[in-house]
Amino acid sequence: MTNEVLLKVSGLKVAYGGIQAVKGADFEVRRGELVSLIGANGAGKTTTLKAVTGLQPVADGDIQYMGRSIKGQGAWDLVKQGLVMVPEGRGTFTRMTIVENLQMGAYIRNDKAQIEADIERIFGIFPRLKERATQLAGTMSGGEQQMLAMGRALMTQPKVLLLDEPSMGLSPIMVDKIFEVVNDIHGQGVTILLVEQNASRALAAANRGYVMESGVITMTGAGKDLLNDPKVRAAYLGE
Ligand code: ATP
Repeated sequence: MTNEVLLKVSGLKVAYGGIQAVKGADFEVRRGELVSLIGANGAGKTTTLKAVTGLQPVADGDIQYMGRSIKGQGAWDLVKQGLVMVPEGRGTFTRMTIVENLQMGAYIRNDKAQIEADIERIFGIFPRLKERATQLAGTMSGGEQQMLAMGRALMTQPKVLLLDEPSMGLSPIMVDKIFEVVNDIHGQGVTILLVEQNASRALAAANRGYVMESGVITMTGAGKDLLNDPKVRAAYLGE
């Protein structure tokens, strides 16, 4: 990990019509970090990720990526620059096979040999996807589709991966597996911003964390410190 700030969000405001969903959020993610953003339903976490990745317009404030403002840039340009989101609900191509989905993740690339090597690397991370390589994505379980969505995002060779609720709706075993893989991907050098309802797992995995409440960041600290904070425990860990 270095001190280089890859992503810096300042005074971010995002609205849906008259509804202010994000009301002035400030946070940063440094190269090599795994940062978790936790908060209650409706706090504005998903909206924040969408604004950062160009999927939702920014009403006010700024987003800097590798030292330059990316405000107003489209999602597509940002993917090409390595800023990639895995959305909640996954969004795999259900009528395509697993291999085809992974190949779609590489369609901004033309380094054929390296694409093949990356598919093998992803099969190494997710052996389940290799076993089912020719199966249609739409016939897979929720956990398998989550793996596929993460695998497809990795095919874009992200510098910063933004994961929106990867453990949502999954069985406890699958939640374990997903967190194992998040740690793995982080261990391979990918910087990660993780949004999670599962606050205890997300903070345990994180270098640093932020708590979002009603569209603003209200607490920040090392993942382990937030995990042990009485206020966080009372509000988000059911104590
Ligand atoms: P969750 O965990 O439930 O997804 P969240 O913290 O990610 O919560 P957001 O989904 O960002 O929260 O929602 C923030 C606020 O914006 C909520 O009040 C929500 O109702 C509102 N909102 C989200 N999407 C839209 C939309 N497309 N149109 C109008 N309001 C929206």
